[in-house]
Amino acid sequence: MIIQKTENSRLSTFDPNNFSFGNTFSDHMIICEYEDGKWGDVKLVPYGPLLFTPAMMGVNYGQACFEGMKAYKDNDGQVFLFRPEKNFERINKSAKRLAMPEVTEEMFLDGLKALVDTDRNWIPQGEGMSLYIRPLIFATEEALKARVANKYMFAIVATPAKSYYADPVSVKISDHYSRAASGGVGSAKAAGNYAASFYPTQLAMEEGYDQIIWTDDATHEYFEESGTMNVFVRINDTIYTPPTSEKILDGVTRDSFIQLANKRGLDIRVEPIAVQAVLDAHKNGTLKEVWGVGTAVVTTVFKALGHKGEKLQLPSLPDDESYAALLKSDLVNLQNNISEDPFGWRV
Ligand code: PMP
Repeated sequence: MIIQKTENSRLSTFDPNNFSFGNTFSDHMIICEYEDGKWGDVKLVPYGPLLFTPAMMGVNYGQACFEGMKAYKDNDGQVFLFRPEKNFERINKSAKRLAMPEVTEEMFLDGLKALVDTDRNWIPQGEGMSLYIRPLIFATEEALKARVANKYMFAIVATPAKSYYADPVSVKISDHYSRAASGGVGSAKAAGNYAASFYPTQLAMEEGYDQIIWTDDATHEYFEESGTMNVFVRINDTIYTPPTSEKILDGVTRDSFIQLANKRGLDIRVEPIAVQAVLDAHKNGTLKEVWGVGTAVVTTVFKALGHKGEKLQLPSLPDDESYAALLKSDLVNLQNNISEDPFGWRV
């Protein structure tokens, strides 16, 4: 790895008590260029702009995919990644689906570790604090030709992240728009998936919702995901989450919740969730909780579900009765080195 550290650290301008997530970037970034059929040297360089023209293929034809993960700092100042091999596997799954070159495990993990180690002072300490890390691959070739590009960049940037406290949200169950289609790219973390979701989400917001529960494109009768999170539904004391498929992103948090629920002996079932079953459970009072999970806020609890013009209010459970809160605290304690790690997830 080629290491070129900054001589003008911006760390003194970073106030861990007052910063904007997603707009504040740590001092360094990882870059690596792909040309002539192979990846070049991985470089750690000062964070900053790169030079491209509007004819860059990535922005014209959308060959771009990314990852989202975090580094956590415990009370002693030790720094941990959480299950980074899952993100490594997933970025390559995305790259493959978009006909982009896969990255090597060495590039990905060594790049992550070098960046996080070098910029460890950018990781805010304290409950809910972390460094959000964004690995990405995009086509850089300058050519207006709708074909697979010949040049790419792998990069990793990082932005400090605040508390994962998230207010409960209202979500609209989609009865028209879809996030993913059979045979499509839903299971890839393709940049274009997010672009395609913004307009339907804007429309849902105009109707007074915060997010969309994406349903299957063929019938809109089954839950798939919620916003940019995987979805869980609790009916009585049973938790359901849909099986992953080519239309659902295989979330690291989802998988961790399933394993943590199993470890606690909770009744968790990976099964399709029918919209009608959720509506029926709401009607007969057995719908206890609906929530989304993802790296960013771990858990977002839903307070209302919109369906075909009707807004159904969901119960608000105290934390000590909520499976969402219980599993979130299990996960957060593990990520922050507060609890044991029987799974070997901390790196
Ligand atoms: N679904 C989508 C569409 C997402 O963008 C994300 C965030 N990466 C997730 C689910 C949750 O995945 P993870 O738990 O790996 O963050």
